[in-house]
Amino acid sequence: MARVFLGLGSNLGDGVANLNHALQLLREFVGDVQAVSDFVTSDPWGYASEHRFTNAVCAVETELQPMQLLDMTQQIERQMGRTHKHAPGESYTDRIIDIDILTYADVRMQNERLTLPHPLIEQRDFVKYPMQDCIKKLSE
Ligand code: ADP
Ligand code: MG
Repeated sequence: MARVFLGLGSNLGDGVANLNHALQLLREFVGDVQAVSDFVTSDPWGYASEHRFTNAVCAVETELQPMQLLDMTQQIERQMGRTHKHAPGESYTDRIIDIDILTYADVRMQNERLTLPHPLIEQRDFVKYPMQDCIKKLSE
């Protein structure tokens, strides 16, 4: 069993409903959701869009290995209707749901598809503060 922190974001449709839907699918396919941060709203990061984001971070206990977890979170993104993946060198886009693996226990790894810990945690307030909130909720 490993504890993972996942960053969730949505800026199309009902962001709160989309995050709740993603949390439900994570419980079903990934594992026990032990804590969820408060939801926050943020401006699009790295690109321009009129649609603001709803963001949250959750802590999940999973038996999936890192690459299996990435496959599953990407499957959930597709199941929720996300069709377009951001490719290197391409700009960011609006999305119904984005699920990023922030940390996987204390694993450090880097390959073509997965970098752990996620390299942009510290640069993104909409990840950093919800993650602190989620850690606080875990200890309550
Ligand atoms: P972004 O999250 O940067 O807006 P995407 O969700 O489209 O864009 O992800 C782009 C790529 O990032 C994915 O194809 C995935 O393989 C890769 N990736 C690398 N590290 C991670 C990680 N820690 N969590 C999620 N995706 C990752
Ligand atoms: Mg992503």
